[in-house]
Amino acid sequence: MTSSPSQRLVRAACPHDCPDTCAMKVTVEGEQIIRIQGDADHPPTHGALCTKVSRYAERVNHPERVLTPLRRVGPKGAGQFEPISWDQALHEVATRLGAIAQRNPEAILPYSYAGTMGLVQGESMAARFFHKLGASLLNRTICASAGGEGLQQTYGGKVGMHVEHFTESRLILIWGSNSIASNLHFWTFAQAAKRAGAKLIAIDPRHTETAQKCHQHIALLPGTDGALALGLMHELIVNDWLDHDYLAQHVEGWPALRERALTWPPERVAEVCGITADEVRGLARDYGTTAPVAIRLNYGMQRVRGGGNATRLIALLPCLVGAWRHKAGGMLMSASGWFKPVRNDAWLQRPDLLAGRQPRTLNMSTVGQDLLRESSPDFGPKVEALVVYNSNPVAVAPQSRQVVAGFARDDLFTVVLEHFLTDTADHADIVLPATMQLEHWDAHTSYGHTYALVNEPAVRPRGEARSNCEIFRQLAARMGFTEPCFADSDETLAAQAFTDAVPFETLRREGWVKLPLPDAPFAQGGFPTPNGKAWATGPGVPLPDHVPNYESVVSAPALAQRFPLAMISPPARNFLNSTFVNVKSLRDIEAEPVLEMHADDAAQRGIADGDTVRVFNERGDYHCVARINQRARPGVVNGLGIWWRKLGLNRTNVNEVTHQQLTDLGQAPSFYDCLVDVAPLGAAQSQALARA
Ligand code: SF4
Repeated sequence: MTSSPSQRLVRAACPHDCPDTCAMKVTVEGEQIIRIQGDADHPPTHGALCTKVSRYAERVNHPERVLTPLRRVGPKGAGQFEPISWDQALHEVATRLGAIAQRNPEAILPYSYAGTMGLVQGESMAARFFHKLGASLLNRTICASAGGEGLQQTYGGKVGMHVEHFTESRLILIWGSNSIASNLHFWTFAQAAKRAGAKLIAIDPRHTETAQKCHQHIALLPGTDGALALGLMHELIVNDWLDHDYLAQHVEGWPALRERALTWPPERVAEVCGITADEVRGLARDYGTTAPVAIRLNYGMQRVRGGGNATRLIALLPCLVGAWRHKAGGMLMSASGWFKPVRNDAWLQRPDLLAGRQPRTLNMSTVGQDLLRESSPDFGPKVEALVVYNSNPVAVAPQSRQVVAGFARDDLFTVVLEHFLTDTADHADIVLPATMQLEHWDAHTSYGHTYALVNEPAVRPRGEARSNCEIFRQLAARMGFTEPCFADSDETLAAQAFTDAVPFETLRREGWVKLPLPDAPFAQGGFPTPNGKAWATGPGVPLPDHVPNYESVVSAPALAQRFPLAMISPPARNFLNSTFVNVKSLRDIEAEPVLEMHADDAAQRGIADGDTVRVFNERGDYHCVARINQRARPGVVNGLGIWWRKLGLNRTNVNEVTHQQLTDLGQAPSFYDCLVDVAPLGAAQSQALARA
């Protein structure tokens, strides 16, 4: 309902990298956004948006939005640009990419991620363009591919419980997730369960806002989740809290997993995880003797060397106790695999335009290394051009010094499609102004619920902004690509993003369509593996095990002598990755880059609450403000991210100290597998920073 006849109501979907994918209702008058609300009829959204997105109009109308194409006039990274026309910009980009493509199209690298989760403005026209060009392919690993591969190997896909059913669970393990900050709508369901008598247990190295509100918090060391899962299995076995029938019928490789789990008694687990044996026993007792029991696993725990194996071990726990028999039992890490049968990906992305070519694939998580590599038979051609959209790698990719050095290369032609002059856009040769969600069409799936959504444009693009699809459509025309698919409009792409199982008319009328799935999808097995069973092990899938961190006091004692603190870098509550850092009202709440420290670790280093400190290791250092509080356990510091470098204290951020070593499965970065030390900055240096 609108409050005036001159107002319109437009259905939209939140595009951000968040499992909740809220359905939104936008009230518009003329070209003015009057109100942005959560759709009360959409069960996962239930009428509420988070603080970040309820202020979306502030982002759309932000005075620093890029509103015209820009050409660099200063050194790379300085952020000095002049406005140019679209005609000049498209001509220059098409000419430069065309010349490189003539030599070798694989020297062109598209770089994109989840700046929008939309199927249309994400990878549709962009993918068609780069496929036709024959550019390098990108392995999009930066956030979730270790866990994703873990689920794939165990369940056969990224599938899990319906989020709404958590309200009926009697015990919920919230594992590696600060739900209040990054999965708010799940938290509402968990709260309802709590009011109905359910017990909530948080498992997380950090005493998060969520852990604070749970009945119990188990603060294990980063990268030890797999060991804890094995210890729980040990206790479930020795106490016979097992669903023998479910294991026999629906789990492949249980006898081998049983043998392995029996080598992990609580005392061994306690030593590895930095918790007590009684915590392991108590957690196993709760898990083994309650029904329905559910796990909300999130991606924080898989950002370590053994993240894939740990995901696999945790994903097997519900099979041991037969939790899947109940609609309010099982696990949810990702629901995105449920959408696979209804997505028209091949039509949207047109891999057939490769026409038999098989370009190399580069991993987005090692962009720092790869931009600095020369041509070689192993690597292929040196990267000569980079086209970045829906991503801010200079801020978010690991090991910033290499990333910045790569982006600063004078011989690299960089094009960035953006809303703002981010750290990455500052390194561009050409910046192209992109539309925001309220200005374009899109279609959405979710990785936290099971509803497809549509996003209709609510207002005209601000300034000269154009949608990603429009930009790639026009570049395709300039490059002489004549296939009819390059003429598809954004609305056509949105209308065809799903199969007939998700009718576009219904999406437009209701805003969303629920996928037709059973309430308890694996009550009788039926996992999307080749034989319908969950796999502890199977052909080509080894038995999972605890894989220690690259960097920890136990696995790398010599390194730990120099850098004795384990660092994790979870998102600050009011930011979403690096999005929203430049929204002033949100940045004002965060105030400054923060490192949470335990009082003992701070005292050993002469650090007081509020001191400006230097966090460092052999890869680099960054400055932030120490907060001495209970959020950090001894031996672990929490560097909240992800600040734009140029808005940080010394124009750096937490990724100065992270590294580019990859996870056991899925070739993902291991951001939370990182040793550092911390020192107070001298008073003079702190004052200089404050003045800057
Ligand atoms: S960021 Fe998440 S919680 Fe916030 S509106 Fe978007 S989907 Fe909803």
